[in-house]
Order: sequence, then C-alpha cells, then structure tokens
Amino acid sequence: MNFKNNLKNNLENSFENNCKKCQKDAHCCIFKKNVGFTFVGIKDAKRIKQLIKKDYDYFLDYSPVSKEIVVCLKNCDPALEGALRYSQLDKHNNILRLKTKKDGRCIFLDKQNHCDIYSIRPNICRIYPFWAVELIDGKIKVIPHDIQSKCGVIKSLVKRQNNEQKEKEIDEILSREEKSEIKKIFKQIKMEDLFYKKNIIKFIKDNDLIKDNSFIKDKKQN
Ligand code: SF4
Ligand code: SF4
Repeated sequence: MNFKNNLKNNLENSFENNCKKCQKDAHCCIFKKNVGFTFVGIKDAKRIKQLIKKDYDYFLDYSPVSKEIVVCLKNCDPALEGALRYSQLDKHNNILRLKTKKDGRCIFLDKQNHCDIYSIRPNICRIYPFWAVELIDGKIKVIPHDIQSKCGVIKSLVKRQNNEQKEKEIDEILSREEKSEIKKIFKQIKMEDLFYKKNIIKFIKDNDLIKDNSFIKDKKQN
C-alpha cells in the first residue's frame, strides 16, 4: 500500500519490492466483490477534503456494509481491526469509508496502483499491513494486520526470518524506529475511535452524507 512514511531501509525495501507486484486479490487498496473497505475517520476525512478541494460526497461512503462484511467483523479476533470497525457500525450497519469504483478499487488508487492522496491518506492506510495490541502491562505490541496475511510485505518479513531458522514475531523483526512509527499511528487510530463515536452522527448530518436520516432518529430515541 505505498507505505514508506519514515520507515527506513529494511521495511522500505520490502514495500518497494512487494507492492509493485501485488496481486489484485491480495492488494490492500482493491476490494473485490465488496469484501472489505478502507475506514476513514472524521479527522482523516477533513484533512483529505481540505487538500483535494472536493466535496465529501466525492470520496466518502456512509451506506450499510454488506451482511457478509458484518458477519466477518463480528467474528473477528477482538484484538484486530475488524472488531474495532464492528464497534463503529451504527444501527443500520453504516460506517464511514472511502468510496470504491465498480471494480473494487479505492477511489484514490490510480491506474499505476499509486495512491493519489499518499501524503494525506487515512491512518489505517498509514499503518497497514500492521496493527497492534495493547498488552495487560500497558505496552503496545506490533502484529500483522491479518492472521493469515496475503500481503507480500508481511510474507517477505516472515520468510526472511525462516531462512535464518528463527521463529520470530513481527514485533521482534521490525526495528525500534519502525515500531515506534507504527505505534504512534496505532495510538492515533485509538484516539480517533473515541472522537468518531462521539461525533459521527453530527458529522453525517451536518454534511448531508445520507439522504435517509432515519438512523439519526433511531439514535436520538435511544
Ligand atoms: S497488500 Fe501488502 S504487498 Fe500488497 S499493496 Fe498492500 S502492503 Fe503492498
Ligand atoms: S487512500 Fe490510498 S493507500 Fe488508502 S486505500 Fe486508497 S489508494 Fe490505498
């Protein structure tokens, strides 16, 4: 996913080598058969709008996700992103996300598979293909975003370790610098979650992002 950021050497090379040849059915910016989405926080959305100078309607989708997605999020490992997204669905299974084209490509993915809004992409794009968990002692541990990842970056990191006959977790493979960057983004995602839950109804209403406002009435009645 064009993830270079401030990450250095090892990981940066892995993105360079793998993202260019990533298969459509594995690519993190392409959602075939509508089986995934890119979450956008309110702050992400504001930042993008400000820079691309287009209305929210151009890139935001606040419609119900498919039943398949709801089941998938509901059954997700509680530590992974899916569980967080499940907690953000409203009563009608709406969640704020980036629009996709008919072929499932993110609206910002160009023909050469480059991100048009790379420097201002949503936080989830900045952390992918990694995620993190908060341990009981308060420490944060970096993990792969998916349990069985098809992502070439994750595979190459794991493979490299296997060649060295070592069994290490992603958290042990990455450099301190890389982990620190990922943890910083993870903390922002957690903070964004609180802000999102508190403000999403107002944001949708203020920006007229859904024509049928029945979900807003439902919320008010609760
Ligand atoms: S899934 Fe992995 S290899 Fe493919 S584009 Fe995304 S980060 Fe790169
Ligand atoms: S915003 Fe950019 S990095 Fe994120 S899914 Fe879209 S194309 Fe990929």
